[in-house]
Amino acid sequence: MYDVEKIRADFPILSREVNGKPLVYLDNGASAQKPKAVIDAVTTAYAEEYSNVHRGLHTLSNIATEKYEAVRGTVARFLGVSDESQIVLNSGTTEGINMVAYGWAMPRMEAGDEIVLSVMEHHANIVPWHFLRERQGVVLKWVDTEPDGSLDPQKVLDAIGPKTKLVAVTHLSNVLGTVVDVNTICKGARAQGVPVLVDGSQAAVHMPVNLDEMGCDFYVVTGHKLYGPSASGAAFVRKERYDEMRPFMGGGDMIREVHKDWISWNDPPMKFEAGTPGIVQAIGLGVALDYMMGVGMQAIAAHEADLGAYAQDRLGGLNWLNVQGHAPGKAAIFSFTMDGAAHPHDLSTILDKKGVAVRAGHHCANPLMDHIGLTATCRASLGMYNTRAEIDTLVEALELAHDLFG
Ligand code: PLP
Repeated sequence: MYDVEKIRADFPILSREVNGKPLVYLDNGASAQKPKAVIDAVTTAYAEEYSNVHRGLHTLSNIATEKYEAVRGTVARFLGVSDESQIVLNSGTTEGINMVAYGWAMPRMEAGDEIVLSVMEHHANIVPWHFLRERQGVVLKWVDTEPDGSLDPQKVLDAIGPKTKLVAVTHLSNVLGTVVDVNTICKGARAQGVPVLVDGSQAAVHMPVNLDEMGCDFYVVTGHKLYGPSASGAAFVRKERYDEMRPFMGGGDMIREVHKDWISWNDPPMKFEAGTPGIVQAIGLGVALDYMMGVGMQAIAAHEADLGAYAQDRLGGLNWLNVQGHAPGKAAIFSFTMDGAAHPHDLSTILDKKGVAVRAGHHCANPLMDHIGLTATCRASLGMYNTRAEIDTLVEALELAHDLFG
């Protein structure tokens, strides 16, 4: 039995007020709140166990190293990866995708080679590929979404041609909530010998993920959306891809030997973890993932499916609200505009006065915004601690805003 009140009690910030009203936090797609277990782990790591990792031969360094390295195994369990050496710890999705762009794609691609992308990618999964377009003449091939916001996996596979070197797609749209059938895309692309990068930033927090089954080549997540600390994250890299990758950043830890006229690399994953890592951030991430696995990813997904259906129903009842994206099985992420209302920024300001936190803007998804013909939306994105009562509060605040804007 999913006890949402018990879960809420684990997140200290949820008991605060904003503008004199109880906080209704519906901005989880931007960043999620942290359970006390994570906050305590971060405090303990700094207050009692802090030291640099890997290099020390003293007690504190050994404790920090053990705790940091254990996170690799936790991430692997969380993502359904049987071999934890395929997990690179980093600062989040942006770093993960840039690592793939600089470390794997740049040395392997030349003018005319193609990267297939969906139109609903976050800028983090667009801009690094534009670098290749600008610098190396790589061609970006875009696959549009369907009118309901879904992405047809066959259209992605049909876009693959003899020059395609990579498919880079999101697992879950941060704007529309669309869940992409990445298993079919990975299977079809693999059959044609084309590697796939999946952006799991939004998906991994909402549903069980099993990368051994999915068969992708790269999968990236960001800790702050997973109820963990900011500047934490991880990338899965399929072992064969490691052999094809050159280092991304250079510095300590990623090398084996450095001499005046030659250097050699450490083995992966260390080869891709240059410099002092986010030690405490990673430790906090491990605790956040353990927390979610303790509740159960199936249970979280079921709770959010219930909330999503309720929200869809309630928001759908407001005939002056235009919700974007109706793909079957979509996640509890709702982007909307209001008929006759001012800019979504003004709408979100009104909601904030009622204690309701949502995001407004282009959500770092300009190509999608162009595709759906909008410049901005308000976005309510739900998480494991949200309730039906909070959706009611959102609807009341929207009704108030509608009355105000006339
Ligand atoms: N990809 C998606 C789908 C996202 O929603 C986000 C963040 O909003 C990112 C990538 C970038 O994540 P980060 O800024 O943590 O690197």
